[in-house]
Amino acid sequence: MAKSQDYSSMTVPQLKERLRETGYSVTGKKDELVKRLKLSGLTVPELKDQLREKKLSMQGRKEDLVKRLQNGSDGGTGKKKAIRRKDPFSNVGVKCTRCRQVMSSKQELEHVNGCWFEEGDANVMLLQVKSYYCNEAYRLLLAFNIDATFKALDSVLRQVWMECCGHMSHFLINKELEQESSQSETSAEADAGNKPSANGQDWRAAILGMMSPHKEIRITSAYSSGFDLVEEEKPMTERMMKYCEGYSILYEYDMGTTTEVTVKYLGKKHLQAVGSLLFVNNILMQNVKPEVPCKKCGKLAKWIAGDYDSEYYCTKRCGETSGVETCMLLPYVNSPRSGSCGYTGRPLWM
Ligand SMILES: [Zn+2]
Ligand SMILES: [Zn+2]
Ligand SMILES: [Zn+2]
Repeated sequence: MAKSQDYSSMTVPQLKERLRETGYSVTGKKDELVKRLKLSGLTVPELKDQLREKKLSMQGRKEDLVKRLQNGSDGGTGKKKAIRRKDPFSNVGVKCTRCRQVMSSKQELEHVNGCWFEEGDANVMLLQVKSYYCNEAYRLLLAFNIDATFKALDSVLRQVWMECCGHMSHFLINKELEQESSQSETSAEADAGNKPSANGQDWRAAILGMMSPHKEIRITSAYSSGFDLVEEEKPMTERMMKYCEGYSILYEYDMGTTTEVTVKYLGKKHLQAVGSLLFVNNILMQNVKPEVPCKKCGKLAKWIAGDYDSEYYCTKRCGETSGVETCMLLPYVNSPRSGSCGYTGRPLWM
């Protein structure tokens, strides 16, 4: 159907005639008519590609798609447009579990240093965990004893964010880095010195792309439920400091409907003496729940459907009337696992 036509050399009556033949609107100035004719010559998949790029709805008949692309909006009210403007996962606040202050994620490290740590011998290590997707909006700053194991970290991540039905999980790191480091201790040390300046994004992208599986390596055994018995592990600090300082480790929970988060070792710190009640789940800071608007009406969403390109709805009814099956709607909770494999969250401290 896609004919390459020089519509601009046609006269307005000719253009209108052509549009009328194919059943499209004939209103507008010449360049609008030309644009409409060009769009009408595209196939439905081509139109949908353009709509996807422009983040517009891809629903409806071909005429609707053309109209939507022509207008550059989904039509409808100005209210609807306002809903689409803002990315609900940008500028999500982070809350300190000690003083309960909410701040921007840019301030979290400075804050955690002042609020939780002080000068003194290291008694904990500080880890930063972030969701890979959703603009890194889901985030935690965690403290662990110096001799804690990856297994302990796995248990906390399951408890706070992940556990739905006891899937496998593991920690990955780039294989090249691992080989480099194990070749000789001295060169590994030298490399370690240069690491913070290297770009951690590259191998993260390589790992997450999963296009070259030989590049990834598990740095831990594969874990199952957080409460089973596993053989005693070495403290994670050793591996963290050797391979991971300045880099992110990838944690994957569930090898089917995977939830990916990255873990960064931020060094050893001296944790102030704090009441045990404040120190729940090792969490020093945690993001507040992102406020996502209902896809249908724009009210605050409480339900989620789908683990990829998730749709958010305020009520089950809004989801159902948008064509989502009831069984697909899960409570939207403060976790990057929201929407995946029946995950419904668990009561947290916030
Ligand atoms: Zn604080
Ligand atoms: Zn599950
Ligand atoms: Zn709604």
